[in-house]
Amino acid sequence: DPVLDADFFRRWMTATASSVDREADRLTALDSPIGDADHGSNLRRGFTAVSAALEKEAPETPGAVLVLAGRQLISTVGGASGPLYGTLLRRTGKALGDAAEVDEEGFAEALRAGVDAVMQLGGAAPGDKTMIDALVPAVDALPDGFGAARAAAEQGAEATTPLQARKGRASYLGERSIGHQDPGATSAALLIAALADAGAE
Ligand code: ADP
Ligand code: MG
Ligand code: MG
Repeated sequence: DPVLDADFFRRWMTATASSVDREADRLTALDSPIGDADHGSNLRRGFTAVSAALEKEAPETPGAVLVLAGRQLISTVGGASGPLYGTLLRRTGKALGDAAEVDEEGFAEALRAGVDAVMQLGGAAPGDKTMIDALVPAVDALPDGFGAARAAAEQGAEATTPLQARKGRASYLGERSIGHQDPGATSAALLIAALADAGAE
């Protein structure tokens, strides 16, 4: 089994920053009909800060990389997604402890703890049309590898389209939230897809 070190987790975060930057307009466009059209700019600001902090502070363990990244998201993103993604990364990082390397099984377990923390903080369950609809299938598929997790997250994001939102800003629209893909589920799929990018390098 491949071993995941601090460098891998740094690559995961910078790959996410690149794809969020590339896809920012699409994320914001998805956030227009069922939100306030800021999801792309929120995450771009957040992950730009993550990249800068990782370069400046050079954390030396996988856990420290993710805790630092999570802290940056919480402090730089005003929208709902900042504290939620921040909690995801921080809690995952804490679960990794101070090991210098982790295996994929340990990472899958830690990410599960992170996703659970997001559900606890935001109160969303699968089917509520949020980032959870991409994250839970991704964690479930992670034992089959990063490629499987990526496909599951993308499918989960697409499957939010026919759902009615029950959490977050989109829920204010009631039935009118039906027929639009959730922006946060879409960005969560980008985060998971970046795992495969970081692994391939
Ligand atoms: P805001 O709605 O404050 O403008 P963003 O636009 O950055 O924040 O993020 C919106 C996304 O956050 C939604 O598409 C959804 O996926 C996610 N989200 C919102 N509220 C919750 C929640 N309670 N639990 C999980 N995810 C949520
Ligand atoms: Mg928004
Ligand atoms: Mg907003």
